[in-house]
Amino acid sequence: MRYLDLVRGPATRFGQKTAVVEGDRRITYGELDERVGRLGALFRDSGLRPGDRVALLAANELEYPEIQAACLRSGFALVPLNTRLAERELRFILSDCAPDLLIAGRGEERRAAALAAEVGIAHVLGLGTPEDLPSYDAALRGATADPDADPDDPELPATILYTSGTTGSPKGAVVDRLGFTARVMTNAVELEARADDVHQASLPMFHIAAFLSYAHIAVGATVVMLPEFAPDAALRVMERERVTTTVLVPTTIAMLLESDLIHKVDLSALRLIVYGGSSIEPGPLRRALERFGCGFHQQYGMTETGGQTILRPADHDPADTEKLSSGGTEAVGLEVMVVDEEDTPVPRGEVGEVICRGPSVMLRYWNRPEATAEALRGGWFHTGDMGYRDSRGYLHITDRRNDMIITGGENVYPREVEAVLAEHPDIAEVAVVGAPDPKWGQVVTAVLVGQAPPDAELTAWTRERLAGYKVPRRWERVERLPRNVTGKVLKHQLRARLAN
Ligand code: ATP
Ligand code: MG
Repeated sequence: MRYLDLVRGPATRFGQKTAVVEGDRRITYGELDERVGRLGALFRDSGLRPGDRVALLAANELEYPEIQAACLRSGFALVPLNTRLAERELRFILSDCAPDLLIAGRGEERRAAALAAEVGIAHVLGLGTPEDLPSYDAALRGATADPDADPDDPELPATILYTSGTTGSPKGAVVDRLGFTARVMTNAVELEARADDVHQASLPMFHIAAFLSYAHIAVGATVVMLPEFAPDAALRVMERERVTTTVLVPTTIAMLLESDLIHKVDLSALRLIVYGGSSIEPGPLRRALERFGCGFHQQYGMTETGGQTILRPADHDPADTEKLSSGGTEAVGLEVMVVDEEDTPVPRGEVGEVICRGPSVMLRYWNRPEATAEALRGGWFHTGDMGYRDSRGYLHITDRRNDMIITGGENVYPREVEAVLAEHPDIAEVAVVGAPDPKWGQVVTAVLVGQAPPDAELTAWTRERLAGYKVPRRWERVERLPRNVTGKVLKHQLRARLAN
């Protein structure tokens, strides 16, 4: 076997130890290992063959890790589905990857049954005690582990992860068993995960943050599943389970900082907060550092590659604004370069596209040979993100290539303008995009949420801090910004609205 089995090792060492917790449900490593074996047999008994897909539409429930571990061990690809997607989006993904089995989480039974009927999925099982679906637990009880369960191919897909669809339709990133192994190992090393850690899975497991949970399982730590993120509930669970590591995104960090409970709960066990997903301004980050007083670890990464660069705890010096506003340096096992349009590295300080290679990078996009060839040209994954290295080699992400605004021939990176506006005390939320314009090609447009100051005041504020061509010419006010599940602003939607 040339890949990692998530639970066999820890089950041997820590059979009686709690592996996964969700609410008042708990499972030991011994039980987990045994269920993973039977689950593989159950999948095969349902007619699945190595390489086939198992789709999972569920929140962070206790069963999540065992389903992934069984797919990995027995040669199936888990397709974790984003529960917040609309029917139409789920139908798109299910038609694209054509799974043979769909597992529905608690409360998702109806939706899953309807989708399976529409898309033509042969088998559907429900977690919990579903009324209208065959029960996962009953099926699992009836299955016996097959000792010859492991097809040996390390390039069989272990999971197909759909991208967030921030820039268009989601694409399925195929992560093979070796890639899965590499992601787990990189995270375990970088987080310094230990058997006595307790990791809170506070981001959805259908997101790449799941690899943080898998890294903790690989070392025999305990993983606490949080089915839904509510700040007070998350803080209470942190206290009750003596959570040592957790994962957040800028929006959930802000939510925790606003909670009164944060002053009352005992978070003394907490040693590390992992965050990422989008950029965070040094201001809020400093406040979070001060409030939590634990280690911080930022990852810059994406569905296709996992975490590529890391801003490690020692890099989080509140006085070092340059470092705090960067995405850090290479994660163990990954190579990262900033290149021009010919894929030639650019000098430090110059902006180019970020490309990356290493064992964690996806094998290919599912069903998309052209997009695969384009993204992986020359053996490097082209991220579509623009960035530069500072004088100390730290990577700064300026923006997505597609979000860059070209106005009168000048390049404007919206994140820079957003950062300046976000410093204004009376601006709650802002997104900057390019709106089509007959004269300038595009005009820099700021979309503000809620009661923002008058245009003239904001123009003056920006002009004092940025070059003239970066100052928004158009100011729009909306009630809320369109965001996806990890809190990212859907700029293509904003652009479409502004074009009309
Ligand atoms: P799609 O590829 O379908 O358009 P997406 O790129 O938003 O969606 P993800 O893979 O979830 O899907 O997100 C990865 C992107 O998120 C990165 O390419 C980058 O733009 C942004 N990102 C992730 N982490 C960070 C970070 N630490 N700092 C800045 N940006 C980040
Ligand atoms: Mg992307």
